[in-house]
Amino acid sequence: MKELLEQGCAQIPDSTSSGLSSTLRDVFGHNQFRPMQEDIIRYLLQGHDTLVIMPTGGGKSLCYQLPALHLPHTTLVISPLIALMQNQIDALQATGVAATCINSSMDSAEASERERAAIRGDYRLIYLAPERLMSPAGQRLLTKMKISLIAVDEAHCISEWGHDFRPEYRMLGEMRANDPERFSSIPLVALTATATPRVAEDITLQLRLDEPREFQTSFERTNLRYEVRPKHDMMKQVFEYLDENPNDEGIIYCQSRARCEQIADQLQRRGMSALPYHAGLENEVRKQNQHDFIYGSARVIVATIAFGMGIDKPDVRFVIHADLPRHMEGYYQETGRAGRDGMNADCILFYSAADRTKVEYFIEQKEDADQRDHAYWMLNKMIRYAHTTDCRCIPLLDYFGEKHNGECGHCDNCLNPPKLVEATQDARKLLSAIARTNQRYGLTHIIDILRGSNAQKVVDRNHHQLSVHGIGKDKPKSHWLNVAETLLRDGHLGMTVDEYRTTHLTESSTSVLKGELPITVAISRAIKTKDDVVVRRSKNEPTRPVDAALFDALRVVRRELAEKKGVPPYVIFGDISLKHMAADYPINDFAFLQIPGVGQTKLERYGEQFMAVIRDFAPQTSSCD
Ligand code: ADP
Ligand code: ZN
Repeated sequence: MKELLEQGCAQIPDSTSSGLSSTLRDVFGHNQFRPMQEDIIRYLLQGHDTLVIMPTGGGKSLCYQLPALHLPHTTLVISPLIALMQNQIDALQATGVAATCINSSMDSAEASERERAAIRGDYRLIYLAPERLMSPAGQRLLTKMKISLIAVDEAHCISEWGHDFRPEYRMLGEMRANDPERFSSIPLVALTATATPRVAEDITLQLRLDEPREFQTSFERTNLRYEVRPKHDMMKQVFEYLDENPNDEGIIYCQSRARCEQIADQLQRRGMSALPYHAGLENEVRKQNQHDFIYGSARVIVATIAFGMGIDKPDVRFVIHADLPRHMEGYYQETGRAGRDGMNADCILFYSAADRTKVEYFIEQKEDADQRDHAYWMLNKMIRYAHTTDCRCIPLLDYFGEKHNGECGHCDNCLNPPKLVEATQDARKLLSAIARTNQRYGLTHIIDILRGSNAQKVVDRNHHQLSVHGIGKDKPKSHWLNVAETLLRDGHLGMTVDEYRTTHLTESSTSVLKGELPITVAISRAIKTKDDVVVRRSKNEPTRPVDAALFDALRVVRRELAEKKGVPPYVIFGDISLKHMAADYPINDFAFLQIPGVGQTKLERYGEQFMAVIRDFAPQTSSCD
């Protein structure tokens, strides 16, 4: 097997079902194919064009990496992200597969050397950046090297309808059209995690796919826990979350560069390794920050949506949205960066009505009425997600036209259904306070009055003498916010779309005030930590208890090895492998090979070092141990 991997054109392993399974096990260290992987691989090996639509973390890479080991010549992979490309090469090399990439990050001597090697057939896989395709060197390479399969990753980039349009991708379609003789015998697989029917059609058309078969898995990410938390004191809430999950690394998304800096700064002051990531940073700084996050020396990256695409790391354990995203697609994509390794991860949205009006304020600035309407339409979907007391997967997957049965078992509403409480009296109190202050104040001030505050602002305006002052003392601020959110959602309360966000009554407020309209509010009951909820345990996690001390010790070994080799820790072993090691205590080669993510090459390279640590922790079963 060893020679077979390291040489480009060695003898090809058999492609029967058992042949594919043994490559899966021996090289990639996985025991079973994920849904559709095997069908896709077979179809490609039969030489057909294929379109694969699978969510992030679904295991798309394997769909071309495994066939690459069963085909006579090189597999060419077009991939738009240098960081991602490098990750994949590192990971492939760590499993012993001869793979390389050519992109703008290397000097031309290095690039030419790799091109010569590619033409000699030294690689199983070669990754090219799309702009390379356009260059004369890229064109020369393509005509000279022997290719068995072309994989186009992030294929939605070819479409103007998708996000991240990359015109260079179209070149590939033209080349295929111009030289049918050469390309008709080379199957092409296009892969993406985002394709509306329109984008899928565009991919087929632009890449000139020949009657491609489309493989699409569900977009549901069952290892992600979706949760919406009311935003009261965001930084405090974020600190709490980070303190509760001290070993986890993740992303915090926010809407502006200034917010990024501010949040990163506040985290740093609390002694956390957090770095900002946005378009306003110097290129070098941004690259360094991304590197530090991927290599595990920064725990949190605080990012604007603009640069999300560059952050690719399989062991992201949480994605927090500090601000309301403008649309569901963005939200799905951003949360999708969590848990790519298949292990549990949290996706938390902090939501407040003030955020909603903030977005509305921006929408109002748009001059074009159609654009404004469209932006509102998208925002409303997002709001529906934030407010729903049903399963969050319903609005989340609705974007992809997928109907969910409403019982995902991994969102807050499914795991811990919100409690509905009667709040008619409280709604009347709140609206009265707004009426008594002539509909001229924001929520914070109104709630201050209800809770009997004697703050300067209240006293200065004589609001401490109003009859409503203090009538809501018995309930916390969070309750009053919740009541206000509910009234806003249902249109019984209005808020101005400007920076003051003053509250006012609406037509239906009167019915509430008169007591004609009963009001109930949903009280969400936050789930404390990821592992609290047993039902949610992803099927990838070990069933036996994980020895936390051993897990930590294994992480240390992994980090040392990664530093020595200059690769991200997950390239050595993913968290999932370490967790299984810390649950199963494998102390011989056979047992070690059973661990997910351990193939022959990784056993040979790292097995001894990890087993040495495991032996120290393994329960002693007999005196001869
Ligand atoms: P995508 O490109 O679809 O986002 P990846 O190809 O990066 O996803 O795969 C996500 C994770 O799933 C990787 O850590 C990979 O090793 C793992 N994986 C892929 N296929 C399998 C499988 N059959 N069994 C177990 N893990 C798998
Ligand atoms: Zn649900």
